[in-house]
Amino acid sequence: MAGETRASLAPDDLRGSHGPARHHLLTSLFGTPDLHRLAVYREHGGYRSLEKALKEMTPDQIHAEVKASGLRGRGGAGFPTGTKWSFIPKDVPGPRYVVVNFDEAEPGTCKDRYLVEHSPHLLLEGACIAQYAIGSHQAWIYIRGEYDRPYRMLVEAIEELRQAGILGPRPFGVDYPLDVQLYRGHGAYICGEETALLESLEGKRAQPRSRPPFPAVKGAWGRPTLLNNVETLANLPWIVDHGGAEYAGFGVERSRGTRLLSVSGNVQRPGVYEVELGVTFRHVIMELAGGPPPGRRVKAFWPGGSSAPVLPESMLDVSTDLDELARVGSMGGSGGVIVMDDSHCVVKAARRLIRFYAHESCGKCTPCRVGTNWAERTFERILRGEGTVADLQILDHVQDALQNGRCLCGLGDSAGWVIMSTMKHFREEYEAHALRNQCLAGECNVQRVGAHA
Ligand code: SF4
Repeated sequence: MAGETRASLAPDDLRGSHGPARHHLLTSLFGTPDLHRLAVYREHGGYRSLEKALKEMTPDQIHAEVKASGLRGRGGAGFPTGTKWSFIPKDVPGPRYVVVNFDEAEPGTCKDRYLVEHSPHLLLEGACIAQYAIGSHQAWIYIRGEYDRPYRMLVEAIEELRQAGILGPRPFGVDYPLDVQLYRGHGAYICGEETALLESLEGKRAQPRSRPPFPAVKGAWGRPTLLNNVETLANLPWIVDHGGAEYAGFGVERSRGTRLLSVSGNVQRPGVYEVELGVTFRHVIMELAGGPPPGRRVKAFWPGGSSAPVLPESMLDVSTDLDELARVGSMGGSGGVIVMDDSHCVVKAARRLIRFYAHESCGKCTPCRVGTNWAERTFERILRGEGTVADLQILDHVQDALQNGRCLCGLGDSAGWVIMSTMKHFREEYEAHALRNQCLAGECNVQRVGAHA
């Protein structure tokens, strides 16, 4: 069982009013003044893990520790990190790359920005360890175009590393060149999809690639490429320092360690919280984030960003264990927990999300390009008071057409899940809107227009 969270990590707490709790593996130093400076980071043990990796460990030993840790990707799919690393071919001569996915554009998600703004060197140290572990000498950080402050902080941090010789031909006197470059994203949600990100990194229009080949074999500029999320890599210094087995002592079953959750929406203390995997969403939403405003109830929550299927209040006791989330029909996704109270209309919220996905669809495949637009227009009809039984059938049909591998990338699935999960858990709200022109939440000002089936 996961341990109870010992202290909240609301934003003020992260600025230093609490000492580290047992499960604060990433954020224990976040209240330290000037932690973004190399000297301060090193005073607190920073880059000790990179030095240890370079001087005392082989790449295979690092890989073994990551596997033993049970770490899974913190960007969306939750794929086991050690397994992902093993897909990088060892016998291919020539360059290979580490690419950091910092295109954090998922609605409701800001934990990677939070991490980098507090400790840019934590990410950079992780990116350097990953380079050494896969035989790479070059990392790219693909950072969301709108993220100005973290971009500037990373520019300064990288310059500090160059001055100190940690980036360069002989870090810590070891003949293993390391480098990190920044690349600003192109301002579209799809840039966060890993193969679209690679296209964008190469200076092309960001559209997903067909797979196989997978990026591990043929990634950036056709070379073997390890793509990992910011938070995933930020765990590496701790794992190298303490060992994978100790890391695996946190969390539950196949969800080991901690993760950052950014909690937003109708809660009294929105913020970023580091929790041990396995705590429940009731704990996260009601205790850490303070629950909804007085007099309100949680109606629904998205446990992993807008792309994760929504869950109703009755599932607040579901845990943050990635496998448990999958069992109840959702996912841990990007770690963005979006909370909606009972003053809001689910149909209206779904329409807003569908509008987002329709706008962000890159248009490469037909089910997504056409389906998201059909869905958007259907939602508009329903919310204008012109809905019919046929509109509910259209939404049912479109959500099915968007899912289960019919689209080239996950955006199509995400759009389908919005419809599928909101209709599954809140069918009565759809029927009230479409058939009786009623908003059960009392949020929408709808008037019946014309006669309907
Ligand atoms: Fe583009 Fe949508 Fe197809 Fe993804 S699913 S490739 S975003 S059209």
